[in-house]
Amino acid sequence: MSEPKAPPSPAPRSETVRHTLLEELRRGAATAWELSTRLGLRERDVTPHLEHLARSLRARGERLSVTPAHCLRCGYAFDERRSLAKPSRCPACRGERIEAPRFRVDTGGG
Ligand SMILES: [Zn+2]
Repeated sequence: MSEPKAPPSPAPRSETVRHTLLEELRRGAATAWELSTRLGLRERDVTPHLEHLARSLRARGERLSVTPAHCLRCGYAFDERRSLAKPSRCPACRGERIEAPRFRVDTGGG
């Protein structure tokens, strides 16, 4: 896959991004796209932050809770592990209308 050249942009520091991300996730479930608009990132740039956040939350006894993506055409549910990035196509029916996974922080206590 070839990536188009992106102009250099003043990327916010990762720590700041993840802090904001965490605040958004505590507020309620959101898709990567929703988070990207709130954080001013591209959608695909949100995923690595989510993965990092999932690991650091686990170390603190919290959890990144994922509602897996599913196919709007046949109902195929993508498993939780694969669904951090929104799948582009359903492996069952090859439909391209995929409901994006939703993320939130599960503190375990309520
Ligand atoms: Zn499908």
